[in-house]
Amino acid sequence: MRSAEVVVIGAGVIGASVAYHLAARGCGSVLVLERNREPGQGSTRKATGGFRAQFGSEINVLLSLLSREKLLRFEDELGVDPGYRPCGYLFLARDEAQLDALREAQSVQRAAGLEEAREVGLQEVADINPAVRADGLIGGVYGPTDGFLRPREILRGYVEGAERLGVRFEYGVECEGFELDGDGGISAVRTPGGDVAAGSVVNAAGPWAGVVAREAGLDLPVEPLRRQAAVTEPFDALPEDMPMTVFVEDGFHLRVRDGRVLLLLPDEPEATDPFDQSVEDTWVGTVVETARERVPCLEEASIDRAMCWAGLYEMSPDGHALLGRVEEIDNLYLANGSSGHGVMHAPALGQVLAEIMLDGAASTLDAHALRPSRFAEDEPNLAHTLL
Ligand SMILES: Cc1cc2nc3c(=O)[nH]c(=O)nc-3n(C[C@H](O)[C@H](O)[C@H](O)COP(=O)(O)OP(=O)(O)OC[C@H]3O[C@@H](n4cnc5c(N)ncnc54)[C@H](O)[C@@H]3O)c2cc1C
Repeated sequence: MRSAEVVVIGAGVIGASVAYHLAARGCGSVLVLERNREPGQGSTRKATGGFRAQFGSEINVLLSLLSREKLLRFEDELGVDPGYRPCGYLFLARDEAQLDALREAQSVQRAAGLEEAREVGLQEVADINPAVRADGLIGGVYGPTDGFLRPREILRGYVEGAERLGVRFEYGVECEGFELDGDGGISAVRTPGGDVAAGSVVNAAGPWAGVVAREAGLDLPVEPLRRQAAVTEPFDALPEDMPMTVFVEDGFHLRVRDGRVLLLLPDEPEATDPFDQSVEDTWVGTVVETARERVPCLEEASIDRAMCWAGLYEMSPDGHALLGRVEEIDNLYLANGSSGHGVMHAPALGQVLAEIMLDGAASTLDAHALRPSRFAEDEPNLAHTLL
């Protein structure tokens, strides 16, 4: 029977980061099982590449600050440019309630050590992003060190770095279930090619984490949520370094990537299949209308329908990751539920989970707020849904 000290299920950016950080800490045998033929074919390749530390909860700010530190030395450590560019995130408010939510988040950010994010009035909004129609807005907040990264490059850095340290990746291998040892632990991971004996197991299955957990008899509150992205034809009226611009009222946001504008607007999917990843024409019509009203130069842009895509967020009930060992199964660890922030937090989550697994507790930051048991304890994290 094949065996490994740690079996990681899923070679997305989070599984790859966990595997790399375990190996970098000296964990001797790590095996990553990925059902697709190559890494990153789940949510990781669908990410738009935003990075921000402007969150509404202390723990998410801390994860971002740790990730940013790691992104700044990523190339030295792993030989790959993660594409971090501090072009900023600009959040815009249309009424006092929205502005208050942003201000409240900012006081959380300050307390957590993010100094540079600030409130901006309408004049500054116009200076930072002159393309936005100011009518009806009352102000916003701006984080100049937020910005962009390259999800697939971060993934590549961690996969290649892990392989150099001896981590094995097996592609086209699905985890189909678990053998339990009768003592409250997993003894082996079942795959079509036979069982793999495992010292411990990490669930890094992204939006499919709930399905994997169920195989171990665990009811994990992580659900897929479809998010669609519309893409324009090449369009040069907006600059590549335009900050990510987010409207608090409905979460509509846009950025420029590789000469095209990406338009995103959260909606409530109606499809009966929660894993459906189709793009709806009616949604494309709505997002284009929204974009043109708020960023008038986009009247001149047309949509490249074939480039539009949809992917799945991995939602937890409080919009925060579940990180750490589960109470019910001794040697099962979770790195799940990042709720749409998994790429930007992957560097931090990998490091912190390696600490939890190898030392028994996190030392770089206090990860208590991410403990999987918080829902059973009725102590979820609280923050504005957008932040
Ligand atoms: C439209 C969109 C935009 C986004 N934008 C951003 C952004 O700007 N910034 C950001 O930080 N995040 C963003 N995200 C979220 C981000 O993509 C995810 O949080 C992140 O990719 C999660 O990584 P992961 O490794 O957990 O999951 P995944 O990348 O989905 O990896 C999980 C892997 O597990 C594998 N797997 C599942 N089940 C099994 C099994 N039984 N056996 C073996 N393998 C299995 C899957 O094949 C997959 O490869 C966005 C997401 C979407 C959909």
